[in-house]
Amino acid sequence: METKLPEEVVEICKKIESKGFEVYIVGGAVRDLLMGKLSNDWDFTTNAKPEDIQKLFKDSFYDNKYGTVGIKSENFKPHEITTYRTEHGYSDHRRPDKVFWGKTLEEDLQRRDFTINALALKLNDNYEIIDLFGGQNDIKNRVIRAVGDPTERFSEDALRMMRAVRFAAQLGFTIEENTFEAMKLHSGLINQIAAERIRDELLKTLSASYSYEGVMILKNSSLMHEVLPEFEENFGVEQKSPGRHHLYDVGTHLVMALKNCQSADPITRFATLLHDIGKAKTHKKLPDGTITFYNHEMVSTKIASKIADKLRLANIDKEKLLRLVRWHMFSVNEHQTDAALRRFIKNVGVENIPDILALRVADRLGGGARETSWRLEEFKRRLIEVQKQPFSIRDLKIDGNDVMKELNLKPGPKVGEILNKLFEDVVEKKLENKREVLLKKLKSSPS
Ligand code: ATP
Ligand code: MG
Repeated sequence: METKLPEEVVEICKKIESKGFEVYIVGGAVRDLLMGKLSNDWDFTTNAKPEDIQKLFKDSFYDNKYGTVGIKSENFKPHEITTYRTEHGYSDHRRPDKVFWGKTLEEDLQRRDFTINALALKLNDNYEIIDLFGGQNDIKNRVIRAVGDPTERFSEDALRMMRAVRFAAQLGFTIEENTFEAMKLHSGLINQIAAERIRDELLKTLSASYSYEGVMILKNSSLMHEVLPEFEENFGVEQKSPGRHHLYDVGTHLVMALKNCQSADPITRFATLLHDIGKAKTHKKLPDGTITFYNHEMVSTKIASKIADKLRLANIDKEKLLRLVRWHMFSVNEHQTDAALRRFIKNVGVENIPDILALRVADRLGGGARETSWRLEEFKRRLIEVQKQPFSIRDLKIDGNDVMKELNLKPGPKVGEILNKLFEDVVEKKLENKREVLLKKLKSSPS
């Protein structure tokens, strides 16, 4: 193995072994290591009981029923040390009825979801990989394969289907045929999983490097039909009018836009995926063959709101998602007034401006257009420009009190006139909106 283990990880193993216990590094960290990547998240499995581990590590914490002891780290997520487990009886397709301590590493690896996640690494002079299910081969072939019988494993815990999609999207792997067939067969079971857990996997899928492939796997496995049925309706919805250029149907355009989204922010990615979701419902074909989607941004916003509620998105995420979808049709016409640009900034929220621009670029690229245009570039330049200008007299860096004080005036219309004059000078760029500059101007030419 090329990549070296971090010192603190080695120390944890040595400490546990020094008391005569077995310990292995497991899960994503081993998978990543074999792919030449250093994980941020280290999991260990051991035959020591949580009490034993707690005694060994003074600052450790133990706060759940799954037998996991956490150790804080300055460089990584907390290290998680879990006693060997086996699981029995998944009557509701999501949670084991009971967690039992396992006696062996084999039992523990058997309960894990995919072969690439069921590898263990033992520390000795040479690293030793324990690979009971062909995980190394599957990494080499870039395949996600359930441990054991996929039908059984997805019936035990339906979230594993969403995890399969997420790993495919993060790693750029394909899903092995039997595993994929079982997903198709059992996609309906996903409805028994808590919405928050589905949401987390979906957002990870959307912000992954292979998000396009991830969404296509969702579609082809029928999981999309369960999780985002309103989205699926958009595949096959034509948008090509005579004489007008549209490469793709609506659904394909949306996935292509996601593929081209240059922001990694999951909510911006989600908005990119959903921005035209209302087109299926607003599609109209006029007698001359022209296709319209009148008001589709409003309908898209409504559907996105329903999806956000169903997936229990945090309020702050929901608000951002809806603003991006609602205003995605913004015009970059060069004849717009500054006031129109300010209204746009207010509607979208100044903090969301880079994200709605990322959505626009994705929308263009996902429709086969060039990344940008001189109009869009000019619009971006003006957005920055109008934000520098004071929006009203109230945004001037001095106020009426300053004017009265500096010029020894009493309250009255004169004060307003002077402020107005300064404001005009700032708008016309004759003066900078800086307190020193404005005070100096007052003193030098009291008009
Ligand atoms: P990453 O941390 O990069 O997202 P990971 O593989 O470490 O990936 P985790 O969710 O942290 O994924 O889980 C750690 C390990 O626990 C997995 O590698 C897998 O072996 C096991 N695991 C997690 N969730 C499940 C599940 N629902 N069913 C079976 N095994 C699971
Ligand atoms: Mg992990």
